[in-house]
Amino acid sequence: MSQAQQSDNKNLTYYRQRFSELNPSKNKKKESGNAPYKPILLLSVIDLITQGLIQDNRIPVSDDLIDTFDRYWQVLASDSSYKGGLHYPFLYLQSEGFWHVQFKPEFQGLQPKTTNKLKEAVEYAYLDNQLFDLLQDEISRQELIDTLIAVWFSVNEKELTDLLQANQNFRNFTQSELSNPNNEPRFVLKKSVIRKAFFRKAIVQIYDYKCAFCRLKAIRAITQNIVDGAHIKPYSEYYDNSVSNGISFCKNHHWGFDHGWFCIDDNYKIIVASDLQEESPHARPMREFHGETILLPSSEEYFPRPEALRWHREIWLRRA
Ligand SMILES: [Zn+2]
Repeated sequence: MSQAQQSDNKNLTYYRQRFSELNPSKNKKKESGNAPYKPILLLSVIDLITQGLIQDNRIPVSDDLIDTFDRYWQVLASDSSYKGGLHYPFLYLQSEGFWHVQFKPEFQGLQPKTTNKLKEAVEYAYLDNQLFDLLQDEISRQELIDTLIAVWFSVNEKELTDLLQANQNFRNFTQSELSNPNNEPRFVLKKSVIRKAFFRKAIVQIYDYKCAFCRLKAIRAITQNIVDGAHIKPYSEYYDNSVSNGISFCKNHHWGFDHGWFCIDDNYKIIVASDLQEESPHARPMREFHGETILLPSSEEYFPRPEALRWHREIWLRRA
């Protein structure tokens, strides 16, 4: 295969594959285990790109990056027995082929053993240009984030507990940020695309990847499914990522819910707007769901909160 063809093949599918096959640790010492250094470094970089704190494909060992990596480590891997630092993945991510480190000339070939040494020795890191370009696009970026989270932060039977714990840890961090507005760091977790991805993943998993309205379930590959983890009270206003503020909807019914085409009463029954006009020759029309109970999670503690459903009804039924 020629160089040009190889470069053409480096598309979203290629990088999703690379992200799902990261070699978790080059360190053979037992205590390092499968500590998710590389995924956390990638999530940190992606988050800084999204927030506009990394604008060019030159990623220095900045305080933003050190701080973001530390926060994610605390939220996602604080129970890991091994604590290295940013220097560790920053160097070893090079083995994946899409992350390149530019050392300062006098430090060429050194292997810095601390983050401070790393800062001294490194000019910047850069991603494959194709990957950096993909990360500028919101949809590709979301797929890459979802791939990292699906593969690296959810394991078998522990999966849901871990996800909920991660979501809770993000929540606690956000609360402390919100209660301390004068001391707001440049990087704010409440705006993080990563924490939203953890919320979505926890919600769709609680509903077994089904739409709570129509029960549709369609999955292709580990990261693509037809349902969204929707917020009942909008996140942008309430910063509420608790599970009881979430509900799983397919794309159609997510949009319909957000626009008040239907509401849900205190007994979890569907109320369809009376002025809805629809033709649906091949699927059950929405109005036929009027009065039916939505799909509920198997455990009552995850049910949508009546207060949130009431908030949504008040917004939309008042306008009708
Ligand atoms: Zn649906």
